[in-house]
Amino acid sequence: MRISGIVQGVGFRPFVYNLASAARLAGFVGNDTDGVFIELEGDEARLERFISDLERLAPPAARIQRIDVAEVPPHGATSFRIVASHHAATGTALVSPDLRTCDDCLAELRDPADRRYGYAFINCTNCGPRFTITEQTPYDRPNTTMAPFGMCRGCLAEYHDPADRRFHAQPNACPECGPAISSVPHAEDPIRDARRRIAAGEIVAVKGLGGYHLACDATSDRAIGLLRERKGRIDKPFAVMVADPATAAAIARVDSDEARLLTSRERPIVLLRRRPDTVVSDLVAPGNGHLGIMLPYTPLHHLLVEPGDCWVMTSGNLSEEPIAIDNAEALDRLAGLADAFVLHNRDIHVPCDDSVVRMLDGAEYPIRRSRGYAPFPVPLPFDAAPLLATGGELKATFCLAAGRDGFMSQHIGDMENLETLDAFTRAVDHFISLFRIEPEVIAADLHPGYLSTRWAERSPLPVVKVQHHHAHVASVMAEHGFRDRVIGFAFDGTGYGTDGTVWGGEVLLADYDGFERVGHLRSALLPGGDSAVRHPGKMALSHLDAAGIPWSDDLPPVMSLVPGERALLTTQLERLINTVPTTSMGRLFDAVSALTGVRQIATYEAQAAIELEALVDLTEGCSYEFDLQDQNGPLIMDPQPVLAAIVDDLRGAVEPGVIAARFHTAVASMIVEVAERIRTRTGITTVGLSGGVFQNVTLTHAAANALGERGFAVLTHRLVPPNDGGLALGQAVIAATRR
Ligand code: ZN
Ligand code: ZN
Ligand code: FE
Repeated sequence: MRISGIVQGVGFRPFVYNLASAARLAGFVGNDTDGVFIELEGDEARLERFISDLERLAPPAARIQRIDVAEVPPHGATSFRIVASHHAATGTALVSPDLRTCDDCLAELRDPADRRYGYAFINCTNCGPRFTITEQTPYDRPNTTMAPFGMCRGCLAEYHDPADRRFHAQPNACPECGPAISSVPHAEDPIRDARRRIAAGEIVAVKGLGGYHLACDATSDRAIGLLRERKGRIDKPFAVMVADPATAAAIARVDSDEARLLTSRERPIVLLRRRPDTVVSDLVAPGNGHLGIMLPYTPLHHLLVEPGDCWVMTSGNLSEEPIAIDNAEALDRLAGLADAFVLHNRDIHVPCDDSVVRMLDGAEYPIRRSRGYAPFPVPLPFDAAPLLATGGELKATFCLAAGRDGFMSQHIGDMENLETLDAFTRAVDHFISLFRIEPEVIAADLHPGYLSTRWAERSPLPVVKVQHHHAHVASVMAEHGFRDRVIGFAFDGTGYGTDGTVWGGEVLLADYDGFERVGHLRSALLPGGDSAVRHPGKMALSHLDAAGIPWSDDLPPVMSLVPGERALLTTQLERLINTVPTTSMGRLFDAVSALTGVRQIATYEAQAAIELEALVDLTEGCSYEFDLQDQNGPLIMDPQPVLAAIVDDLRGAVEPGVIAARFHTAVASMIVEVAERIRTRTGITTVGLSGGVFQNVTLTHAAANALGERGFAVLTHRLVPPNDGGLALGQAVIAATRR
């Protein structure tokens, strides 16, 4: 029998051993680069029973993709054993994502009588580090960063005892033989010292599973202010770690689906609706209606964070740099950020940031797919030739694909500097060697300036260029296994269009082969190119200009500019100096946010839109209305009447929350109206929603529900993010199809 899927590092061989022994079957089980192989001899009925039990009773962290069975002549074996791993040059054994500490290990961690009481590296076949310590497959101790630690007699006995929970647990360790924590500056008890420092408002760097965190007290304005100052991060939200669901529920509203996600084995950061007036400092997520909360996922976290604690846990890096993983590197790079360090001597082989997930209508909606999920593959809708898709620029991930597997990488970061590009290259090399896939073609974004595109062009392999929004639409199709044409709404901030302008409010009639641009937002000028992204106020004025609405002194974005700046902007827009036309929906959200008086200058991506969404008054029933112009070319979605109505509402002293609500409803209604017109013309009844704008769940929920009511089948994301973090999946299926 050959078993493929996540069957290594999850206690699969011991499970098979126990199952076979109990059924009195002889033979052997082992790991190789394809997964697990088993040979069995014995009574036929018991053999059949074994096969059905194998799937039914598999260990909790295992994910069986396929079982192939063939008959071979019997050897006359009399017992069952676990045999040495086979190393072959080919094959793609899956590597398990890192697994949160299991309940059995947690109980031992807290049991003063246990030999691993308080031991920060306790693990078993059901839990512990996996992907981040794996250098090579098969997943055996010598191929991990646990290789330097020789097991003591006690650990070895467990490792070899089929009845033990640590039977063949590769990272098995104890205080006598395994990794140990230390601190800088030196402290007798690093845990207690770190807790004392955090209580006193200091910032402590903590080495975790896939990198360093910076930890501090989330209830202290002073500590958060200090962290923001040192990290160079003005408003971008920080994630919070709390010890248990009860503490989470005290600071945010947690429904049953969200509670399940919070306590899931993936342990992502869950975006939860924050409660007003809690102990958590407003500086943690200013202007944001949500709070990113996660529960401890390593034994070290469990030792550090106690019930009632609310700690900021943010990536240990300067803004936009990749997360630090090496002790010496961390001590150097984080020296100006942290007051103290909690370190350990188990190396991290692969950097891996925390994942971010929210719930959308009872289903998981990924915002960042990384630790706990990567490198588990996304199933592809058809067999793909071996290829590498390099993704976009912001929130970079790549996809290494072959056959039905799309191995999406962990989150790499924003590919705007050499450090991130290096991290990208290292991660690609690691995936290629781990999964033994030699790409024959590279897919890349059409944007000539993206570092990922230039990286692809330097390779000797043929490069397939994929239009950004086509890739977005294909990504949501692919994760639903959808193979027909869809009406794809790709709404995001920026993407390079086939005409060289900046797209981002696109309606594409698309399949994996190609697309027709059947609609788009009426374009406006992006003043100063990318600097407009940081100035929603200027974007608002540009949109008012395009809509023929005068810049009256009473409008917030007009007020935000001094007369000199206004004159400069006017000249810029009139003479088209350093401006590009854009159909970006993200920029329209920015413009409306600024016009409503919510935000004129953004310090992180999508801030203006996030703060606008946070204000939405859910009791509001009215809406604005876009003008749809249906001439011979693509359908033009014109926001002119929306902007005019907002200006009227502002003058009528309508609350910003009401304006925000009316705008969100207007965009959702426009999506439905556009989809209906295209359905009438083409008969296509499936709609895909993708692109960063759909991280806005208020919009996505409203649009998806309204489309459903009108009889559309709606594809929304559930495996990869709607933002550029999911782009590589779409590129992969498009390149595979064109190939
Ligand atoms: Zn465990
Ligand atoms: Zn030991
Ligand atoms: Fe995008």
